[in-house]
Amino acid sequence: MKSRFEKRVSLLIIMVFLLSVSMTGCGSKVQKQTATGTAMGTVINQTIYTNEDELTGQVMNLLNGLESDTLSWRIADSEIGQINANAGTEKESTLSKELEQDFNLLKQVAIDSNGAFDYTVGPLVQLWNIDEWAVNTEKEAIIPTDSQIQEVLTQVGYERITIKDGTILLPKGMNVDLGAVGKGIACDRIAEYLKKEKVTGAVISVGGSIVTLGQKTEGGPWQVGIVNPRDTTHLLGTLSLEGEWYVSTSGDYERYVEVDGIRYHHILDPATGYPANSGVCSVTILGDSGALCDALSTACFVLGVEEGMQLAQKYEAEALFVDTNGKQYMTEGMQSYFTEQ
Ligand code: AMP
Ligand code: MG
Repeated sequence: MKSRFEKRVSLLIIMVFLLSVSMTGCGSKVQKQTATGTAMGTVINQTIYTNEDELTGQVMNLLNGLESDTLSWRIADSEIGQINANAGTEKESTLSKELEQDFNLLKQVAIDSNGAFDYTVGPLVQLWNIDEWAVNTEKEAIIPTDSQIQEVLTQVGYERITIKDGTILLPKGMNVDLGAVGKGIACDRIAEYLKKEKVTGAVISVGGSIVTLGQKTEGGPWQVGIVNPRDTTHLLGTLSLEGEWYVSTSGDYERYVEVDGIRYHHILDPATGYPANSGVCSVTILGDSGALCDALSTACFVLGVEEGMQLAQKYEAEALFVDTNGKQYMTEGMQSYFTEQ
């Protein structure tokens, strides 16, 4: 038999237990967390609605880890670094599950775009020294000669590398460079993480790639701005999005140099070895995968309006093209999300 005192103590323990459950459960409030920082060589903007502890720092850790452990071709120990180091050795590299999924998708986009999107452009990107343009704009860029370009083009061609059964094999002199899709892949990984953390809403931008999830506590759709490619201080318009979406933009204003009055931008046409000249100055893709949207934005930029539209539609993605005269072209679906500024 319990004494009256013991019964009171048990009752008190039960009450304290119930109170703490209600405080950590439905009672804890959804808070808005915001942060701006840099990772993967670009600006990261985060807005997260959650009743969890601080998540924005975790997202930055995730991005830094993705760069150093997986995507960076500059880091010898990264997965891409090791794949490239095995080029020409006849030694197949085993892909991690996640990177295998990415490569299977990217290989299909390379095939469907007829090589307009090509993850083997690395040697060409290095010849043009594109990464330097962003960090050292003071220095006069050196434009490669035509014969240098033709020579390096012999080391480019997605169809010459073998991706099968979770492995990848590269011939000598070739390398893989996920520069065109790294930010989109990052959006996929962030979404996967935030969904696991059960956030109620989030909008995260990784440079020109954006992911939206769930909703704001205060209600109303996410507003995603699309930059005017010929006046980057202003928006062309906004996309009103609800729930999970991925948006990627490729534009000739993102990275470029001007030499002797000619503007050279960072999106190369693997068919010619020169910056793409398809009459387009920006392409925005809206869809349900970050990697896909990012690959399509680059491919569509190279292909131009007509062929690019067909490619986007093949993947059931929405597209917005701006041509060099400022004229806009949109898929029907895109029109329903887009509001001109
Ligand atoms: P984005 O801004 O997403 O279109 O990606 C452009 C970046 O991808 C460049 O800085 C290059 O590193 C790389 N790149 C350039 N042209 C291509 C291409 N045709 N296919 C794949 N990657 C490319
Ligand atoms: Mg891209």
